[in-house]
Amino acid sequence: MTRSFVAPTSIEDALAVLTSGARPVAGGTDLVVGARQGKAPLPNALLAIHRIDALHGIVEIGGGIRLGALTTHAEIEAHSTIRDRFAALADASAIVGSHATRAQGTIGGNVMNASPAMDTGGPLLCLDATVTLRSEAGERVVSLDDLWTGPGTTTAAPEELLVAVDFPAPSPHSGSCYVRLEYRRQMEIAIVGVSAAVAFDGDSVSGARVAITALAPTIRRVPDAERALAGSDGGIEAIEEAARALIAAMVDALPVLAPASSNGDTLAHRLWPRLCPRPGRAEEVAALDAALVLLADHELPASTLAARVAASMQAHPYLVVGAGLATLGGPRHGGESLLVEDLLRTLPDRETAAAVVSTRIAHRQAVPGFGHMVYRNNDPRADRLLALVGSLAPDNPAWLVAQQVQATVERHGGPFVNIDFALATFATATGMIRASAETVFTIARCAGWVAHALEEYERPSRFRLRATYTGSG
Ligand SMILES: Cc1cc2nc3c(=O)[nH]c(=O)nc-3n(C[C@H](O)[C@H](O)[C@H](O)COP(=O)(O)OP(=O)(O)OC[C@H]3O[C@@H](n4cnc5c(N)ncnc54)[C@H](O)[C@@H]3O)c2cc1C
Repeated sequence: MTRSFVAPTSIEDALAVLTSGARPVAGGTDLVVGARQGKAPLPNALLAIHRIDALHGIVEIGGGIRLGALTTHAEIEAHSTIRDRFAALADASAIVGSHATRAQGTIGGNVMNASPAMDTGGPLLCLDATVTLRSEAGERVVSLDDLWTGPGTTTAAPEELLVAVDFPAPSPHSGSCYVRLEYRRQMEIAIVGVSAAVAFDGDSVSGARVAITALAPTIRRVPDAERALAGSDGGIEAIEEAARALIAAMVDALPVLAPASSNGDTLAHRLWPRLCPRPGRAEEVAALDAALVLLADHELPASTLAARVAASMQAHPYLVVGAGLATLGGPRHGGESLLVEDLLRTLPDRETAAAVVSTRIAHRQAVPGFGHMVYRNNDPRADRLLALVGSLAPDNPAWLVAQQVQATVERHGGPFVNIDFALATFATATGMIRASAETVFTIARCAGWVAHALEEYERPSRFRLRATYTGSG
């Protein structure tokens, strides 16, 4: 319970209160709302800073901008210079929460809350922003890379107050933007976001900064994507290269579970230690590589069609991948491998597997991982991957159980195994953590969607269906 609450009007008075152990509160949309939702109790002593005039205001300095810590998202969104020259930040502030959140929530609170899903973080990184921290001991300027250390943690001392956020003048002929994927448009935080600031010199990219949001414990830049864009003409090859780097960055953002496996820098080498708590043997990593290739593309399932529709409207490649991911998120597409994984993990041996699957079939319950909408006789991708799994460790108990499940379904005249079954078998037999099959599928498909988009960009728009109105009005 909060026992003391003070609201001084000067920075000096505020710093004295901070030194005595109080916690600052600006708009309260993280701190107070979080306490109401039971995330963390309110601190013992609160320092309300909203009455300190010196922390308000947006000032243009030599082409750059200084935001007072109390600048609200609504003020950022409405500021004409920020909208014109620092669009990524205006984009981000414009989609924070709701009108009420934007009117109340401040840039200082957003930055110091240090959520890896915060919206202004990526744009600020791309705009090369720094923050000024003040305490009674003095003032220091810190880059954002050096500020955030993890979800909700920073290098700022408890007695330091963020007083301003600064970013320099943008290079001539430059632009920036921020896009995010969320479950709904308002009152939602990013599931994933990406920001970019790109400068041109004539026809070539002279500098690029790219940052990803909500994928790692802190918002981080993607140097490989930046290198791919710098010096290019910003055309299709550069987009391809940047997409490759972004997919690798998605993989690198997953927590590491084991030391790196065998030597190599393929996506599979980077992915293995993030899915499996033990180092992978060379042939296992090669099998993961094969799985990624087998899954990268597969004609036009719903997610790929959605990606193509977005691309045909010339949507940014990031949004194209977003359209694919959104479709894949539905329970009818992409999630079946997890059901197979969960089934396989509950079956301790071949006998139990045969009994459980027979009972399911007798009770007309589905056994996940069998049959396919397109293939009629077999799923060649599944056959290839299962053959690889069998060759990795023929006596592996999980592999033997999976074979028994397959044999039991076939004995009852059921359909053939599909790629979800094969992928889940691969994940369980190699000891990967739960939901690894779905992760492999999703990462592989991102590459496929980008390839589809590059093809679609070259075509005229072609998705416009007609509807027949049947209502009475
Ligand atoms: C419904 C809802 C929707 C939201 N949607 C989004 C969204 O889409 N995107 C997004 O990024 N955020 C979102 N948020 C989070 C929040 O609104 C923002 O992070 C906002 O900018 C926080 O600012 P604040 O002033 O309210 O912070 P507060 O809650 O006052 O403070 C947040 C943290 O920062 C510290 N702090 C605040 N100011 C300072 C300072 N000057 N110096 C040192 N420490 C300081 C506080 O001690 C606290 O730890 C949402 C919140 C809600 C309630």
